Amino acid sequence: MKKLVLLFAFLAFLPSVAQDTYLHCGSLIDTRTGEVLKEKTIVISADRIKNISNGYLSPGPNDQAIDLKSKTVLPGLIDMHVHIESEFNPQTYIKRFTDNEADVALQATVYAKRTLMAGFTTVRDLGGSGVNISLRNAINKGSVDGPRIFTAGKTLATTGGHADPTNGMRKDLMGDPGPKEGVVNSADDGRKAVRQRYKNGADLIKITATGGVLSVAKSGQNPQFTLEEIQAITSTAKDYGFMVAAHAHGDEGMKLAVLGGVNTIEHGTLMSEETMELMKKHQCYLVPTISAGIQVAEKAKVPGFFPEVVAQKALEIGPKHQATISRAYKKGVPMAFGTDAGVFPHGQNAIEFNYLLEAGIPVMESLKAATVTNALLLGMATELGQLKEGFLADIIAVGENPETDVKTLENVVFVMKNGVVYKG
Ligand SMILES: [Zn+2]
Repeated sequence: MKKLVLLFAFLAFLPSVAQDTYLHCGSLIDTRTGEVLKEKTIVISADRIKNISNGYLSPGPNDQAIDLKSKTVLPGLIDMHVHIESEFNPQTYIKRFTDNEADVALQATVYAKRTLMAGFTTVRDLGGSGVNISLRNAINKGSVDGPRIFTAGKTLATTGGHADPTNGMRKDLMGDPGPKEGVVNSADDGRKAVRQRYKNGADLIKITATGGVLSVAKSGQNPQFTLEEIQAITSTAKDYGFMVAAHAHGDEGMKLAVLGGVNTIEHGTLMSEETMELMKKHQCYLVPTISAGIQVAEKAKVPGFFPEVVAQKALEIGPKHQATISRAYKKGVPMAFGTDAGVFPHGQNAIEFNYLLEAGIPVMESLKAATVTNALLLGMATELGQLKEGFLADIIAVGENPETDVKTLENVVFVMKNGVVYKG
């Protein structure tokens, strides 16, 4: 007992080792209003923003100061559409037969780190093999450097549909995957597939409401789920607190997805005016991913990069993407921000800002989508997407005001996630 009292007495005289970080920010973007504020100090304690003050406050003797006086500081960016465990190249189709899960997992850690270093401190992963769930857990534990991940696990598709995992395989390898593997052919299958994702540890549900470009299948745009199947999926998802994201290029399947109650439409490439109105009515958000459309159309011109059936779809669908996003924006369709990174190299996510600007969307609006709106859609509106007292300390910096030079976002010089500095 005496020893214990002595120990407590000793501890009481130890100097406090709690250290705050002071970020001296020359410019700071309020992503909610689009205002650029000057000469601010952000004080970070542990993983949160403690306060934000005018001028450059002097740190205490145990605190550290970081000089960002010549930089523009903004909240960590959020990408609502990535495939964190893969990156497309001509070997992708054969890799399904040669890579072990461990190969996929180790390579995914490289993509995760690259994404974080590019200033994307949070991503929504829209489908992979299941490695994405383990990667999310490893990052949360601090064993691997990467963005905060919200993942769909395995995407739900119909037989032969976009994301049927055995598409394009030899007959004896095709088998007949079902709800467990993410293949759905009835309302009952849909319910089971959602519950299986819950059991596997997914955070949300992704469906492929229409054909897609990169799958070895003929149509890139036909409807692939019935309304009844979509409704079974969205209503079951609700029971588990899951949002539902729907991949869609063609208009008919897209309309069914909106009517069926999905939360976001991914790509939206051939969206009609009627579906745009429907999106507004149902408050369904469009995740643009212009980067994917432009990049696949470019790669399709390289001989042998894609199988013939894929190249044809890429050349047909890709070039229509940006103009649709432009029309949807002008119509007032609710917009999030997402890129489809993985279809093009991870870490280049910020190229989307320039494509959005070309489509007529001012950079401050895209930044608001990539922070405030995306945080809201992830159920993180009170913790992410803004530099604000009490919010998680996800903070990045770039060299210029993005309004003057949008490409400055492709060159992030400082990255902090959860109060830990990863770059700068
Ligand atoms: Zn995708």
